[in-house]
Amino acid sequence: MKLYFASGNDHKRKELSRLLGGYTLTLPSDEGIAFDVEENGKDFIENATIKAEALFRIVNAPVIADDSGLMVKALGGKPGIHTARYGEEEAGRRLSDKEKYMLLLRNLEGETDRRATFVTALCLILSEDRRYIIQESCEGEIALSPSGANGFGYDPVFFIKEAGCISADLPEGDKDIYSHRGKAARLMKMLLDKETENGEKGTEN
Ligand code: IMP
Repeated sequence: MKLYFASGNDHKRKELSRLLGGYTLTLPSDEGIAFDVEENGKDFIENATIKAEALFRIVNAPVIADDSGLMVKALGGKPGIHTARYGEEEAGRRLSDKEKYMLLLRNLEGETDRRATFVTALCLILSEDRRYIIQESCEGEIALSPSGANGFGYDPVFFIKEAGCISADLPEGDKDIYSHRGKAARLMKMLLDKETENGEKGTEN
């Protein structure tokens, strides 16, 4: 089964492909398809669905899309769907990963309730009338200071409850066991395996 991934990000494509256990994903850009959709949904599921539907309308073939973010209890669930753009409005520019997690630490200074949840929504559209949505989460806390060199984004400040350590301190690959994205992708793989009768994998082109 050929599976399009509604994203422009090759790093994300590789990661999701690995998490799905080897399904290769085709980016719109691989086929010269211009794809830039406004993510104006009110939650992760809406945003993943908006992206998947937009690409499905173009390619009329199986499509998968994702959306994720960090919800911090003491900040009323923020930054949530705006996690990637955290601090951007005030700074007038996109912040680096380090700038973003340092800003988060500053915004939580003195806060004792440091509970936070990473959320990922995946939307799979197989045909007009066959759609699957999976949302998974990873519970944790925002650490008092950064640690670790692995992972990306907010991993240096995200303490994974189930793992008992900071995400960026986990050896490469181990994060998938606990992460929101790992959990969602494992469930999605079950659906895809069922769909491709004999477990035949998708092809890149
Ligand atoms: P995206 O929508 O998946 O690109 O992620 C939105 C934002 O959440 C980006 O700023 C990512 O850096 C951050 N993010 C998503 N998943 C993770 C994770 O597993 N670890 C750390 N940061 C993450």
